[in-house]
Formats: sequence, structure tokens, C-alpha cells
Amino acid sequence: MPTPLEALHETFGFSQFRGRQQDVIDRVMAGCNTLAVMPTGAGKSLTYQIPALCREGTGLVISPLIALMHDQVRSAEAAGIRAAALTSADDNRFETMDRLRAGQLDLLYVAPERVSTEGFRRLIDQTPLALIAIDEAHCVSEWGHDFRPDYRLLRGLLEERPEVPRLALTATADHHTREDILAQLGIEPDGLILAGFDRENLRYGITTRDGVAKQLMALLDDNPGSGIVYAPTRDATEKLAAQLGAGGRPTRAYHAGLDPQIRAANQRAFVASEDMVMVATVAFGMGIDKPDVRFVAHAGLPKSIEAYYQETGRAGRDGEPAVTQLFWGADDFARARRRIETDVEEGRRPGERQRLNAMAMLVEAPGCRRAILLRHFGETPPPACGNCDNCLNPPTGIDGTVVAQKLLSAAFRTEMRYGVTHLTDVLAGRETERVLMLGHNRLSVFGIADEAELKLIKPVARALLARDALRADDYGGLSFGPGARPILKGEERLPLVLPPERARRRKGKERV
Ligand code: ADP
Ligand code: ZN
Repeated sequence: MPTPLEALHETFGFSQFRGRQQDVIDRVMAGCNTLAVMPTGAGKSLTYQIPALCREGTGLVISPLIALMHDQVRSAEAAGIRAAALTSADDNRFETMDRLRAGQLDLLYVAPERVSTEGFRRLIDQTPLALIAIDEAHCVSEWGHDFRPDYRLLRGLLEERPEVPRLALTATADHHTREDILAQLGIEPDGLILAGFDRENLRYGITTRDGVAKQLMALLDDNPGSGIVYAPTRDATEKLAAQLGAGGRPTRAYHAGLDPQIRAANQRAFVASEDMVMVATVAFGMGIDKPDVRFVAHAGLPKSIEAYYQETGRAGRDGEPAVTQLFWGADDFARARRRIETDVEEGRRPGERQRLNAMAMLVEAPGCRRAILLRHFGETPPPACGNCDNCLNPPTGIDGTVVAQKLLSAAFRTEMRYGVTHLTDVLAGRETERVLMLGHNRLSVFGIADEAELKLIKPVARALLARDALRADDYGGLSFGPGARPILKGEERLPLVLPPERARRRKGKERV
């Protein structure tokens, strides 16, 4: 049997291991259980294929998608590995079983639901196993974004074969999901290996939305290469594509509602082009191989840090510098929070809330964006990267607590039914028709904010919405979320980040 390094050279033709592949393989070779968290493209397949070649027995690979399995079998066979998949879509099942019994398979791919069947367990009982690899292991966790109950059934097999090393693999796992995978699959905490998430050539930038078409135009002017603009809805993609295209740049739209032929044509045109802008929903980008995407912009909030990382990750695959820019607004958070409370099944709400809170932390952070991303994925990055907006152009932090308290009080005194505009009128002491009609001029909060404080109400409202201290109903009416009372009572402060140009304007005014 070859050593791992020999297998790397002879079977795969690669000269050296990448990232932490070797650490993962060493653990499997030593018979230890491991959870490897590495981004897409890091080379996870090798970490189970090589031990399968270098250890006694067949490597059993649990994989959630039949299409994925067949791809893997094809590429393994192309490398000269004896591999097969056992699924309902394969008519050569009996042949595969025979090969397995005869010890003629290096790798066997199966879906989790098959693993729990009586027949499969009897088959596998007799078979020496080199390892059990669990691909897309985040599917085992309800914290993950893609929970599959079938993955829970793997426990039976794992308990029956405690001597076989387990290797769980995933590209996306936040802290909770990671802990959960370890617990569910019986992997010791020190079996966690993660690395390789840094995309050095990507410059991260995040700002609030303020006339997004104009903001995007400016971004396009600075970035002549091809790029992707992600928009939240189908309508928004078409509208933005028309607006951006009017500026003269070749622009196309892409979303699931388009005629398949147009969609395919747009995609082909984008892949071939060197300066095209594709305005798309997040469906676009999966499985598209275009290494020279020079920028990825988001016109609205991605649904999690994982999604943000994956979508921005479509820029600069060639390793050349590329730019990512996210434009967000408080309404993104308000809408996402409402969706969680109304459309998401109860058991999954805590996970979704947590994902959104992590997003809020990222967009509002005064510090290095890359450091936050990498820490989110469990790495220990240096505190500053020098290649994100906050490192290159540090924002000014101010304390928004007093303004937040005034805004929250105004919402409370007006029975939490009104939006920012009306609450601002009340705090400013403006006797508008509406204020007078509602008698809000008689409230204790009427006119308690000064000029400087009034200017901060919008950013404060945005920060409060993002951290779930305020919630907006369908009409913009603001009510308290769980984060409201600690701020109102002075137990928590509200640090506020002002973008550099805003802060400069403020300073200029104060000097006058
Ligand atoms: P993942 O499953 O992590 O997304 P893959 O296993 O598909 O990644 O590998 C991504 C690509 O990297 C593949 O083309 C693979 O052949 C290549 N690759 C993996 N390991 C190495 C290595 N040590 N040296 C060079 N290329 C590698
Ligand atoms: Zn940075």
C-alpha cells in the first residue's frame, strides 16, 4: 500500500499537499476522528481519497446528492481509483456489491438514507472499512442552513463501527454548527481542523445604501472588469440591469424566472466577456467557472456570513486583486427578521436569528472585516488586514446611546406604532399636522433632541434595527425588540460607526 505522499504523487500527480490537507490525512491514517472545515476548492476530496488508498479496506463516503456522487466517481475513476456509487439511479448495484465484497473498491459513495437500511447494514457488516467520510457534514445539524434528518441516522452505523476513523467534511460551519457536528458524529473537540478561508486578493467593503443605483454606477466606474451585482429580487435585478446598462456598460440580468434560453445566453455572454456586469439573484454563480470576475457587489443584505463569504468568493478566483462591496439598509434587517418570525418553522428560528445577528455585527463593525470573517470560520487572524474598507479608511466611532434612548422613549410614548419620520418630528418638537392631531406635542419626549442629535437618528435607528432593539412592521412602525430595554436602562451602550466622509463633514461643521 502506498504512503499518502506516494499516493499524492502517483495517483493525483500533485507535488505537495495544500493548506492543511496533510494534517487531516495524518489524523485519518492514525485512526483518529476528524472534522475538516475548509472552503470550497480547498481540496477536501483528497483528504478522504488518499486514506482510502493507503489504508486497508474500502473508504465509505456519505454524500447527500446523487449528481455529486456521480461527479466524484467519474473524477476518482479518471485518476485510476476504483470507485462506485450505490444509489437508486445506478443499475449496476449488484455488480457494485460484488466488487465491494471482493475487496475491489477503494471508494464507495452512498446517500445517508441508504446507510440506515437493513440490507445495506448487512452488506457493510462484512466489509473492512478504511474510513467513513461524511461529506457536507453540516447537514447533520439543525443549526446548519441545510439540515437533513437522514444524516442523524448515520449514528447507528458509526456506533456499530467505532474502530473505523470518521472524517466529517464541510465548507460552511459557524461555531454552533461545528460544535453540533462534533457532538452528533461523536468526534472529539480536538479533532477539529479548519483553515484556508482567507482570500487575500479580495478587498472587502461594506456601506449603507443611499441611492444604490448611483452607488453602483460609481463602483462600475472604478472597476472596468467584469463583475456580478447581486440583487434581492427578480424585479430588482431587471430594474438595476436597465439602470446600470443605461450608463453604457454591457449589462445583463439573470434570475430563475427568465426564459431558460435567455438565461443560458446571458450566462455564456458573461463568461466570455471582459467587462460585462451581470445583475443577478444569488442563484447565479453556482457552478460557473469564470476566474476573472473583478468585482462582486451586493445591493442588499446576504442571508448569512456564510452566504456573504460564498457570494463574494466568486470574485478573483484567478488570484488577481478583486473588489467586493456590500450595500445594506435597516429595512434589510427588518424584513429578514419579520421573515424569520412568520415564515420560518419555530425550531429553526434561533439559528436564523443568530445568523442574522452575526451579519449585523459584520456590517456595523468598526474594525477589520476580514478578521471578523475569519474568526467566524474559526481561524485566528491578525487584527488588521490592510485590504478592507475599515483598515484602509478607519471609520470614526461615536457613542449613540443617548440618541438611542431618546428614540426608544419616543417609540414607547407613542405606543410603538410610528416610523422614524414621525418620531423624528416628535423629538425635534415640530408641530406638524400629524403631531398636533395625535396630541404628540404634549408628550414628555416632545422636542427633547437638539440639532446634532437629530442628525444621528437615522444611523441610530439603523443600528437599533440591525441589532434587534427595534423592529419594524410592514408599514415602518417601530416597536421594541429584545435589545431595547438594556439600552433604555443604560445597561448597554450603542457604539455607532460613521463612515469616514460623514465623520469629516461633521467635524468641519463643528469647527465653524
Ligand atoms: P473541495 O471539495 O474542497 O471543494 P476539491 O476536492 O474538489 O475541493 O478540490 C479542488 C481542486 O483542487 C481540484 O481540482 C483538485 O484536484 C485540486 N487539488 C486538491 N488538492 C491539491 C493539491 N495538493 N495540489 C494541487 N491541486 C490540488
Ligand atoms: Zn481589514
